[in-house]
Formats: sequence, structure tokens, C-alpha cells
Amino acid sequence: MEAKPAVSFEDTAVAFDYKSDAAMRKANLIFSLVNHPWISALATGSVKAALWLRLPVEPLIKTMVFDHFCGGESIEKTESVVKMLGNYGVNTILDYSVEGAKSEEGFDHAMEETLHTIEKAHRVENIPFSVFKITGLASAELLEKVQQNAELNEDERKAFERVRYRMDKICKQAHAYKIPVLLDAEESWIQDTIDSLAYELMAKYNKEQAIVFNTYQLYRTASLKNLKDAFHEAAMHNYFLGAKLVRGAYLEKERARAEQMGYVSPIYPDKDSTDLAFNQALQFCIDNKQRISVMCGSHNEYSNYYLMVLMEKHSMKNSDNRVWFAQLYGMSDNISFSLAKAGYRVAKYVPYGPVRSVLPYLLRRADENTSVAGQSSRELMLIHKEIKRRKHDRKGE
Ligand SMILES: Cc1cc2nc3c(=O)[nH]c(=O)nc-3n(C[C@H](O)[C@H](O)[C@H](O)COP(=O)(O)OP(=O)(O)OC[C@H]3O[C@@H](n4cnc5c(N)ncnc54)[C@H](O)[C@@H]3O)c2cc1C
Repeated sequence: MEAKPAVSFEDTAVAFDYKSDAAMRKANLIFSLVNHPWISALATGSVKAALWLRLPVEPLIKTMVFDHFCGGESIEKTESVVKMLGNYGVNTILDYSVEGAKSEEGFDHAMEETLHTIEKAHRVENIPFSVFKITGLASAELLEKVQQNAELNEDERKAFERVRYRMDKICKQAHAYKIPVLLDAEESWIQDTIDSLAYELMAKYNKEQAIVFNTYQLYRTASLKNLKDAFHEAAMHNYFLGAKLVRGAYLEKERARAEQMGYVSPIYPDKDSTDLAFNQALQFCIDNKQRISVMCGSHNEYSNYYLMVLMEKHSMKNSDNRVWFAQLYGMSDNISFSLAKAGYRVAKYVPYGPVRSVLPYLLRRADENTSVAGQSSRELMLIHKEIKRRKHDRKGE
């Protein structure tokens, strides 16, 4: 990176202004636990076992971690979080994080809930996007079958039509209300199906602006080329490309499956290659900003700095609405709140839903913070710094 952006991610007073001392102590406890791989493994293993045994773990999870990472158990209950973030110029993306509802009723319910988030975004300031996971609307087995080009029986064909219907209904509503919708990326064995559905919807709803955003997981060796191909496709058919860039959340699962089934892993062999691809993807999006709207979904400080530098090089305003920074609620507040203070467009994914249903999301956060060297210790270091700063300030009073 040749230039250095003016924003610093070191100011913990800015990052944690919204947190009370008690909330800081809780954050300290959470990140201290996940920072120890064996404690984290023991804790997540016990939660999984308790779930399997149908033990009532909800109250414990709710007090320990839910409030740190989630906005509430229903849309209504997220209101105070949305308002609080808005007070700091940080936007909210309401993420109905219920996973594994594997019935047609469950899929319909997830569609209705996503439609509610779009309505809510339409009515309330500071909710600029909506989001959904396709496995909330469709069976993963069906998506995989479609990807394999396997012949579908009559029931499956009808089920896939219903998946298309649900997705179209969401995107149509998003288009009517001008609330862009993010399609999360998932495992590589269903991602081609997700991609083709996303491009069909972009061709339909992205004529005036990027309403439908597809997600590119840059830990996949194919993703940079997929992004470039998607851009050429959009240019050829004259629509806007919405691109959310992430590194990818299913590293271990992808590698394990590739090894077990004997195919070459679709994931880069090392972190440096993923980082390089991610930053190249950022550059590609900014180079083609006339047609691409980009969301950088990352807690990586270098990538967030790099995007600021790219914007500056292209003489873009901090508030240019083609560029968004996004982090998960409960993580990397030093990035989100500092960017917002400097006038960049920033949003937090705020998951919500009943405690038990949000557990897979919470377990992924625990795995991620343990498996990704550095992230939880970075969080912990910032939390310690802020606790110390507050103590010091109090002494000086
Ligand atoms: C707003 C937002 C939305 C998200 N949406 C999605 C989504 O739709 N789909 C999805 O899959 N994930 C999603 N994620 C999660 C994301 O993919 C990452 O898992 C997470 O953000 C950590 O990556 P990072 O860029 O923040 O930071 P970093 O800590 O710099 O990177 C960690 C990531 O690098 C990669 N990595 C680590 N070690 C290696 C290695 N040895 N070899 C190759 N790669 C490696 C992995 O992807 C790992 O998650 C989202 C994250 C955010 C913040």
C-alpha cells in the first residue's frame, strides 16, 4: 500500500464508546475464552452435545454470548441496537439468522421474515440493505442436485420452482423499495446454483442500480475470475453488478470434504494467497466502479485500509454510495466505528432470531475466532486497552 489513509483503527475510545463497563467486562470474558483453542473447542463441543440431547441451554447462551453478537430474538427486539448503531453513523443489516429450517413451511417462513426486514429497512433510517441465505429458502440437497445437473423428479422440480419464486419475491420487493439485497455465499457444492440464480435476478432487477448483490468468497481459487466474468456479463447485458466480497467462512469444511471425496480443494492453500486475491478483487471493483457497487465484508484491517486508499486514489468521496464497509455485530468495532466517524458508509450485520435457532451462527463465530489466528487476540488486545484507558481516566478525574 503506497499511501496511508487518515483513519486509524487504534482509537478504542471511539470503538467502544457505546459499551458500558459491564459490557466491556463481558466482551473481555467472551474473547478470553475463545482465544484459548481448547477451551473454545470444549465449550462449542458441549453446546453441540447439549443441543443434540435437547437440554435447555438457551438461558446460558443468552446471558453469555447472544447479546454480544445478536440484536434480539425478533425484529422488534433489535430496535435499540439499530438505534444505538445509528447514533454513531453505523448502519444495520438485519440478518434473520435462523439456519436449518428444512421444510417447505420453514422456507416460506424465512422468505416472509426476509420480506419483513425489507419493509423495516424501507421504514427505518440506517437500514440500507437486506440479506438472506439461500439455504434458509431451499434444501441444500436440492441445490446440490441442481448444481450436479442431476435429473430432478417431479417433486424436486416443483420444489426448485418454489425456490425461484421465493427469491424473486424477495428481490422484487427489494427493487420496489430500492433496498439492495445481499445473497450470502455458502459451500462450493451449492454455490454455482446460487450464482446462476443471483445473475438471473441481477439481469432483472439491477437495470437502474445494484439491487441484487452476489457474494464472492476470495478464499476460493475460482472467485476472482468469477467476479471478472460476472462484470463482463453485466456489461454485456447492461445491468449493474452488486458484489459483496468476503474471504469465506467454510474453510475447514471445504478442505475436509475435498480430502474425503478425493478432489482438489477449491480453497487457496495459504492465507497470503487468499489475502492477495481479496485485495485484487477490491481493486477490480474500484477500477470498474462505473458498473460495480461493492461491499467489503471483512474484519481485516489491511483490506479495509486498502479500500480507503483505493477510493482516495480514484478521488472518490468517503461517502460514495457505491462503496460499503461491513462487519459483524460484536466484532471489529475499532474498524466500523472509526470508518463511520470518518464519513464512510459502514454497516453491521445484526443477526436476530430465537436463541436456539441462531446457535449455528454463534458456533461459526466461535470456530472462526479460534481457527483464524490473530482475530480474537486482536479483539482482546483492544478490549484490554480500552478497559485500561477507562481506569486511567477515572483515576485522573
Ligand atoms: C459483513 C460480512 C458478511 C459476511 N458474509 C459471508 C458470506 O456470505 N459467506 C461466507 O462464506 N462468509 C461470510 N462472511 C465471513 C467471512 O467470509 C470471513 O470468514 C470472516 O469475515 C473472516 O475474514 P476477514 O476478511 O474478516 O479476516 P481475516 O481474519 O484476515 O481472514 C480470515 C479468513 O481468511 C481465510 N483463511 C484463513 N486461513 C487460511 C488459509 N490457511 N488458507 C486460505 N485461506 C485462509 C478464511 O476465509 C478465513 O475466514 C462475512 C463476513 C462479514 C464481515
